[in-house]
Amino acid sequence: TKFVYDFTEGNKDLKDLLGGKGANLAEMTNLGLPVPPGFTITTEACKVYLESGAEPVALRDEVSAHLEALETQMGKKLGQADNPLLVSVRSGAKFSMPGMMDTVLNIGLSDRSVKGLAEQAGDERFAWDSYRRLIQMFGKTVLGVDGELFEEALEAAKAAKKVHVDTDLEAADLKKLVTKFKKIVKTEAGRDFPQDPREQMDLAIEAVFNSWNTDRAKLYRRQERIPGDLGTAVNVCSMVFGNLGPDSGTGVAFTRDPASGHQGVYGDYLQNAQGEDVVAGIRNTVPLAELESIDKKSYDQLMQIMETLENHYKDLCDIEFTIERGQLWMLQTRVGKRTAGAAFRIATQLVDQGLIDEAEALQRVSGAQLAQLMFPRFDEDTKVQTVGRGIAASPGAAVGKAVFDSYTAVKWSRSGEKVILVRRETNPDDLDGMIAAEGILTSRGGKTSHAAVVARGMGKTCVCGAEELEVDTKRRRMTVPGGHVVEEGDIISIDGSSGKVYLGEVPVVPSPVVEYFEGRMHAGAQDADELVEAVHRIMAFADRKRRLRVRANADNAEDAMRARRFGAQGIGLCRTEHMFLGDRRELVERLILADTENEREESLKQLLPLQKQDFVELFAAMDGLPVTVRLLDPPLHEFLPDITELSVRVALAESRQEPHENELRLLQAVHRLHEQNPMLGLRGVRLGLVIPGLFTMQVRAIAEAAAERKAAKGDPRAEIMIPLVGTVQELEIVREEADQVIAEVEAATGTELKLTIGTMIELPRAALTAGQIAEAAEFFSFGTNDLTQTVWGFSRDDVEASFFTAYLEKGIFGVSPFETIDRDGVGSLVKLAAEAGRKTRPDLKLGVCGEHGGDPESVHFFHEVGLDYVSCSPFRIPVARLEAGRAAS
Ligand code: PEP
Ligand code: MG
Repeated sequence: TKFVYDFTEGNKDLKDLLGGKGANLAEMTNLGLPVPPGFTITTEACKVYLESGAEPVALRDEVSAHLEALETQMGKKLGQADNPLLVSVRSGAKFSMPGMMDTVLNIGLSDRSVKGLAEQAGDERFAWDSYRRLIQMFGKTVLGVDGELFEEALEAAKAAKKVHVDTDLEAADLKKLVTKFKKIVKTEAGRDFPQDPREQMDLAIEAVFNSWNTDRAKLYRRQERIPGDLGTAVNVCSMVFGNLGPDSGTGVAFTRDPASGHQGVYGDYLQNAQGEDVVAGIRNTVPLAELESIDKKSYDQLMQIMETLENHYKDLCDIEFTIERGQLWMLQTRVGKRTAGAAFRIATQLVDQGLIDEAEALQRVSGAQLAQLMFPRFDEDTKVQTVGRGIAASPGAAVGKAVFDSYTAVKWSRSGEKVILVRRETNPDDLDGMIAAEGILTSRGGKTSHAAVVARGMGKTCVCGAEELEVDTKRRRMTVPGGHVVEEGDIISIDGSSGKVYLGEVPVVPSPVVEYFEGRMHAGAQDADELVEAVHRIMAFADRKRRLRVRANADNAEDAMRARRFGAQGIGLCRTEHMFLGDRRELVERLILADTENEREESLKQLLPLQKQDFVELFAAMDGLPVTVRLLDPPLHEFLPDITELSVRVALAESRQEPHENELRLLQAVHRLHEQNPMLGLRGVRLGLVIPGLFTMQVRAIAEAAAERKAAKGDPRAEIMIPLVGTVQELEIVREEADQVIAEVEAATGTELKLTIGTMIELPRAALTAGQIAEAAEFFSFGTNDLTQTVWGFSRDDVEASFFTAYLEKGIFGVSPFETIDRDGVGSLVKLAAEAGRKTRPDLKLGVCGEHGGDPESVHFFHEVGLDYVSCSPFRIPVARLEAGRAAS
């Protein structure tokens, strides 16, 4: 195998092998853009290293050969005393992991070559500054020295000289700092800073390999669902310098605004600086547009390159560049991250520009982004005091208690508090806290600072660079303009769409996207903004493409109507137990307690008209669309009073010698019905078989309601669904009774009702015997909640709170199987049952109504295995429509 590729050898499609950065550097090189020469060590080499603990044997020679070629091309040798070649060593995985892994710049500098660099550049200060940066970065990332120690020494040097910025330190000061830094390395790492340039390079490469498995990298991957075994590539690139004086600098740019999608000049530039100064948000940058007056030639060239890149990648690109004494160099490009709103806008803009088609546009957005756009926003007319304004880095409205460190953020959020993490700037060590927080607020850094990039990636609200806030993390407080102090625990609100920061809690208003789905705002109308218009168009693309139909889980007319407005094509699950609560509970209680047939029939008779009325309303709301009504499912004891409470009542009555005959009877019934594992007990079809008349009452209510709707010229399309079936015999018995009731109602009303009867597939046995079950069922609806519970043997009510955190931390699964379908286990049962069912009954209708029906990744799975529809809660319907469209294109 070949482990090293020159930049001229790769291309953008080799991300698996060369990582994102390496593949794109190669692509830019081949586009003829100014990229400093270099080479990439593959992820394969990293994998070998991570698996065996040693670099592949062939790697050293290959690196030597590429280094030699690079030296020849550049006309200088790595670390050579008089005219040194310097290189950067940067990580670059397939998926971008901002700030997660290591980079070392200026490799090749030593006590000798620093002088050569000074001569070569004609700038002694610059050479010593570069050298101190190398020792600092190398010390921290390769030798594991605490970075704070270098920072403190730098601060001390500035303080001693009474200056504020590091550019005010002169060559002599930096020379002293280098001595100091080397001492720190010696004491902390127990070895000298290596003077041999090749040793520097080799150690840095190894450190990059190792950085794949740091705790923070692992945490980030779990959060972003990036597989843990991909490894990182390593890019070795000849150095160009942005810190060679005022005609040098470094910057980042976007080909369009990552927040709005608008085309224009977006980015930040920092004169006389090296790359990490911008990303870390340490010094304040100027807007990219100002580069035009600083260096017109480079600016024009950059604009040209940005256009080339956008047309080439057909997408928003972000870019890192450096200007060395008036010469522009491209250090990185990639398809850039963007806010959810911008993703929709950019996708439609690119369609309009003729760069991509509708199917591709669907791939440029996601259900998760749509869900994010459906969050409420802050009420803009609110009277709450604004205390600051930063950069709108990641949209959303977040309210919570201010906390000033990651540890507190995690601790408080675990105990159920909503928190806003407030920092001067964030770094990768803040990741836990950022995950735990509702939102992130920083006082320094721009749109490309760590806080901004990571928050956007996580879909978290973030305001950064709110400079008038004085954040004091040591004393856990911040001072706002006017002197008011926000202490830890005080409530603040941040608006990631406007960048505003408020004291106290700001009321929120619904999202315009929800208003649009609700029909209160029409795309194309005056008040519709660009976002609504873009969402409207993308949804139309998705609806045209998708094969899966989307239904709602709803059990009342109000939810049904909302679902319809959101695009539901029917109800996939009406849970009738929700109709047995409230003041009807007493009737149910009487049914359960009935001693005689008469008593039981009496209570059923009273329940019938109530149930019927529920269905009449539901069928009216869903007129013309299918409504799957599921017969009663939960264990009966759920309808009886709490056992302890009742025992106390009985005991009290006894001691007071009051009459308590009814309570006693109730208590006995509760005891009788008590189950150790109610979820595996008397519920679903088992109830229907044990309590005579219960299911037939429900079937009669459905049939009579349908007949009534027909008589009113409606178009009811009811489907009767039997839950928790494990064997076809259960279904046959219930079915026989149901058919009889339906026939009776049809005869009595003189209408043909065309009711279908089907079953849920939510037990492993049902899935395994689906071929038989299909003989008695006209449709299957997969109950993936119970199916996940029973396939894994995980109690759906308990495990997420008990041991799932440990499982997620250990990486046993990246996401709860109750959230995203477990393809290999539960999923393969779904597939098997779907195939077996269709074999028995080719026109068997197949759907899913567990929580997974609204989960993006699961929707793709259900599309793949050929189901007819997914059913989910009304608010998830647009997400499911979009993902079904994406799955099909
Ligand atoms: C299921 O089990 O997936 C289901 C939809 O039914 P319920 O959640 O009501 O048990
Ligand atoms: Mg179920």
